[in-house]
Amino acid sequence: MRKLIVQKYGGSSITDIKKIKNVAKRVVSYKKKGYKLVVVVSALGDTTDELLGLAHKVTKSPSERELDMLVSTGEQVSVALLAMAIHKLGYEAISFTGAQVGIITDASHTRARILNINTKRIEEQLNRGKIVIVAGFQGVTTDRDITTLGRGGSDLTSVALSKALGAETCEMYTDVEGVYTADPKIAPGARKLSKISYEEMLELASLGAQVLQPRSVEMAKKFNIPIHVRSSFLNKKGTIISKEVKAMEEIIVSGVTVNKDEAKITIYDVPDKPGIAARIFKDIANKNINIDMIVQNISRTGATDISFTVFGRDLNRALTTVREASKKVKAEGVSYNKEIAKVSVIGLGMRSHSGIAARMFNALARNKINIEMISTSEIKISCVIKKRFADKAVRAIHKEFGLGKK
Ligand code: ASP
Ligand code: MG
Repeated sequence: MRKLIVQKYGGSSITDIKKIKNVAKRVVSYKKKGYKLVVVVSALGDTTDELLGLAHKVTKSPSERELDMLVSTGEQVSVALLAMAIHKLGYEAISFTGAQVGIITDASHTRARILNINTKRIEEQLNRGKIVIVAGFQGVTTDRDITTLGRGGSDLTSVALSKALGAETCEMYTDVEGVYTADPKIAPGARKLSKISYEEMLELASLGAQVLQPRSVEMAKKFNIPIHVRSSFLNKKGTIISKEVKAMEEIIVSGVTVNKDEAKITIYDVPDKPGIAARIFKDIANKNINIDMIVQNISRTGATDISFTVFGRDLNRALTTVREASKKVKAEGVSYNKEIAKVSVIGLGMRSHSGIAARMFNALARNKINIEMISTSEIKISCVIKKRFADKAVRAIHKEFGLGKK
């Protein structure tokens, strides 16, 4: 391993000039320890949301190419300011856009995939002793169009650069101290995890624990890049995300998450015949709508009900499609419910321990919370419940598995 660190600073770590100066100091402190440094930054604070807001004031359906042109400017501002702040401390630094350092992507605007990174320019500058600062979230196609890597994409930039440069660690600086057993705002006793496996982090990230972009965790897993999530305001160890080790299996449950941004759709009395579900879900897939949980019961009358969940933002589009599809397959009707939440428990230990589901259901039952849907994977159990019970459910489950501070 070479003495090189990739550090990423998220938008919340650089909301103003004071914080940028603070980041510059931290970066320099690693330089003093003899590290080569590549620093990836996001846009300042909520810049990306503000830029997207501007676009939507112009038109309801902005071109994705132009959206990328627009939002990529956010990161260009932060890299330059951070370079200046480092200069001010008397150290050499140079900022680059994604295109300048050869982050080549495909042409799927707003969610582009990285195809290749040409590290020549970064290596040259590192060899000259400079701190290299790279704009996160962005790349360029072989036709030289600017692309972005999906929301939270600076995480992906950092993991990809860590891999390409053979970094010793990939540090992700944020405004929380690491990954927690639950959202501390909901469960005040939540504890910071010192380590967690990629698999668990992937579940946590995609279930709505907004610490890391799920795609970046997938890439880290693929190339076995350890990630250290930590606070940019404190000098403390955070959470290490790495390959699973035996000891991790002994922890039965690592965390509880909640997602309040889903809606449930039910199609009533769908004929119980081959090809019906295929037909309905094909129409939904064609509209690029993601489905999460699906539940279908046995039928006793030749017809059955199918329920599934979609992201809240996709609900209206999904309903239009489902109503049409349900007519085509001669179902009785369609209903929906926005007032739902999905609570989940995650843990590698579920593979080897039984009774986890029963304990989770029990915790809900004791609190008189009804379960509307259940789904499981190897290391996760999720329940759909009424939204107004969401926080209470998280606290109850968190307590049931003894996840809080000792
Ligand atoms: N600024 C972009 C976003 O807000 C990328 C990032 O923060 O990682 O999604
Ligand atoms: Mg951001």
